Amino acid sequence: MADYDVDLFVIGAGSGGVRASRIAAGHGAKVAIAEEYRVGGTCVIRGCVPKKLLVYGAHFAEDLADARRFGWKVPDCEFDWKTLRDNVLAEVSRVSSIYGETLANNKVELIQERAIVAGPHAVKLASGRTVTAKYILIATGAKPDIPDIPGKTYGITSNEAFHLDELPKRIVIAGAGYIANEFAGIFHEFGSQVTLINRTDVILRGYDEQIRDRLLQISSGKGIDFKFHAEIQKIEKKEDGSLLVHVANHDPLPCDVVMFATGRRPLTDLGLETADVALNDKGAIKVDDDNKSTCDSIYAVGDVTDRIQLTPVAIREGQAFADTIFGNKPHRVDYDNVPSAVFSHPPMAGVGLTESRARKKYGSVKVFTSDFRAMKNVLAGRNERALYKMVVHPDTDVVLGLHMIGPDAPEILQAAAIAVKAGLTKQAFDDTIALHPTMAEELVLMR
Ligand code: NDP
Repeated sequence: MADYDVDLFVIGAGSGGVRASRIAAGHGAKVAIAEEYRVGGTCVIRGCVPKKLLVYGAHFAEDLADARRFGWKVPDCEFDWKTLRDNVLAEVSRVSSIYGETLANNKVELIQERAIVAGPHAVKLASGRTVTAKYILIATGAKPDIPDIPGKTYGITSNEAFHLDELPKRIVIAGAGYIANEFAGIFHEFGSQVTLINRTDVILRGYDEQIRDRLLQISSGKGIDFKFHAEIQKIEKKEDGSLLVHVANHDPLPCDVVMFATGRRPLTDLGLETADVALNDKGAIKVDDDNKSTCDSIYAVGDVTDRIQLTPVAIREGQAFADTIFGNKPHRVDYDNVPSAVFSHPPMAGVGLTESRARKKYGSVKVFTSDFRAMKNVLAGRNERALYKMVVHPDTDVVLGLHMIGPDAPEILQAAAIAVKAGLTKQAFDDTIALHPTMAEELVLMR
């Protein structure tokens, strides 16, 4: 390998890039990784980690209210956004530095500048230096995709939401996917007036219909205003600094902050043409089952390939790449039954086929549901029903999908996803004795 400066050059120190570099280094490769911003990528810096902390912070609004029904004398409480924001950002810095230490401990050279591809085996750094590599891994992730409308620069994205100087009194969120519903819940719990505008009448496309409907019903009941067939057209800034959002089929919406949550676009402005790395029709790097691009020495993992835009998937891809190329342990990521969750209020989670996808694939399927009010919610007087749904193969009894909305649904689903991934039957669930009293016991009591 003496012909190259390094065995592996990774562009992007997010979840996929960091995993790939430390595993490759562990297999004995000489590895360098370039990051133009902070180590950790979207998940750590402006995604999963700070978002989940905001979700925890937001949920205290309900917990404090419910505590009174459990006998606690809770005085009127005030929420201080800046305290939470600063504590969350400090935690982000802590986690980011742990990622940096992990790289150093594994002898991965961290280059803190922008890098682009300059040929099949060459990377050019912002400083002008060129580094040659036997292999290049692109793990640059994605960035918010903002519709090209007049006044779009007045809007923010989830990137900026973590840094707001103050909480908006009124926020309009464009989109109805993961980010829109998670932030709608967060801002609503903090006391903002939230309007979610969506170009169709489908929220969280891809999730089970009944579960999405339950989220819509609960969120609307709490006071989040959903406007459908309301494609965003224009944002106007008024003299007092407030904004006016023009949308199709509805009156203009006055607000203080507009947040775009309209999908994420792979970050591919990287000189890829110098190595004939092709993009697919979604603008993502085209890769084969082993994460190899159309250039034999260049690979890509994570959101930049737009297969499934989830951190644990990027991590698995990074691991598979490093083990296959440097560890003599070839393996591929299995994309079947990948669990996912939306950290809304309440959260939802799912694994496997939705009812409609299962019907399309198998014709008829058996569906079992449990529609219940969590014990805690009953005493709290919180009229919020959980819904668990199991989709079962008509002949083999194998559980094809599990979908849930309710308190702690993602925590419960992660464990149940093992059973679905293992191909267990509904009978196996039924044979398991309930753990009482829990919400999760509904999984083994569905009739
Ligand atoms: P999503 O793909 O989940 O949702 C995008 C939303 O924006 C959809 O409602 C879509 O409508 C709408 N939309 C897209 N383009 C336009 C447009 N031009 N004008 C108006 N509306 C538009 O993307 P997010 O941005 O919410 O999240 C990006 C990805 O990040 C997710 O797909 C997910 O993989 C990941 N993520 C995961 C989280 C988790 O695991 N909990 C949390 C946050 C993000 P339509 O349905 O009509 O296309």
